[in-house]
Amino acid sequence: MDKKDLEREFHMTGGDGKTSYARNSSLQKKASDMANHITLETLQQLYKETRPKSLGIADLGCSSGPNTLSTIKDFIKTVQVAHHREIPNQPLPEFSVFLNDLPGNDFNSIFKSLPDFHIELKRDNNNGDSPSVFIAAYPGSFYGRLFPEKTIHFVYASYSLHWLSKVPPALYDEQGKSINKGCVSICSMSSEAVSKAYYSQFKEDFSIFLKCRSKEMVAAGRMVLIILGREGPDHVDRGNSFFWELLSRSIADLVAQGETEEEKLDSYDMHFYAPSADEIEGEVNKEGSFELERLEMLEVDKDKGNEGDISYGKAVAKTVRAVQESMLVQYFGEKILDKLFDTYGRMVDEELAKENIRPITFVVVLRKKL
Ligand code: SAH
Repeated sequence: MDKKDLEREFHMTGGDGKTSYARNSSLQKKASDMANHITLETLQQLYKETRPKSLGIADLGCSSGPNTLSTIKDFIKTVQVAHHREIPNQPLPEFSVFLNDLPGNDFNSIFKSLPDFHIELKRDNNNGDSPSVFIAAYPGSFYGRLFPEKTIHFVYASYSLHWLSKVPPALYDEQGKSINKGCVSICSMSSEAVSKAYYSQFKEDFSIFLKCRSKEMVAAGRMVLIILGREGPDHVDRGNSFFWELLSRSIADLVAQGETEEEKLDSYDMHFYAPSADEIEGEVNKEGSFELERLEMLEVDKDKGNEGDISYGKAVAKTVRAVQESMLVQYFGEKILDKLFDTYGRMVDEELAKENIRPITFVVVLRKKL
């Protein structure tokens, strides 16, 4: 699948059905809540330094579901608090909020919930001055320019930047066959060339991302990036990559049962890369437009997941399904999905009972240089 197809096809499961992202994104919510003190502190600091009359906020990879607008509401409230502390006698700034995701994202469902969003904003305003909020959708890839020059003060990208712009081309040999057979991402069976291919795609993508944002952001503007990562330099560990290794094993299980073909597993590769802290810092410094203000590591608790009393493995399976379904369906068809994710959820629980799995998240704060 080339870059254009990927941009068109890749999306979280829309709507609000049982397998939708809207109903299966509480793990992401938990992580962004854990990072909230950093995110909101950064936003307050930015407001204090720049005090713009109109504040441009961009959420890159906003997806759809309750996480999207609840994040924006937190941002607006935080700025209001900072405003009343800093310059209470002046009018509140206007807010321009730009919601970005790939074109397949369910933007409709976000816009359907906008009336409630505005009602809640007003209701929370006990001192009467209601903020003026302008919200626009910007469908497109963030590995390219999205906004006019110098319009954005604050960029927020939660759980979106570990998605590469494409499956690394170096993953395919001259016949166009994947060199990463049996794995959907870097796993313990993968050769050195596979890790290299992914790492170099990450470097290319992340530096384009930084370059584009540097044009769009004002001086002293801030970015908060929440991104899955690796604890150390090793590409294979019991962190995020292990979850994909288990997905590969679950598909292999279906191959063994004759439910799908081995060639399909061999040819399926994800466009995912979890960088280490050093890799992130290295690229920020090399690109040069931003200063690294903060980089912190979080580990989201593995207590019970999404709805009710389901195990952690089941919760992970539901989350991964909402994220990967759009891609898996194209390779394997709809039919195998229930069985695949039953197996996957069970495997995650079994592995976790043997030894810890540590899904590492980084919170990165960048400041646009003058
Ligand atoms: N920020 C949300 C969603 C995370 S899911 C949350 O925290 O819950 C990741 C989102 O990033 C998906 O909606 C996916 O479509 C989007 N995404 C991935 N690659 C992208 C790209 N190149 N450009 C824009 N959005 C992208």
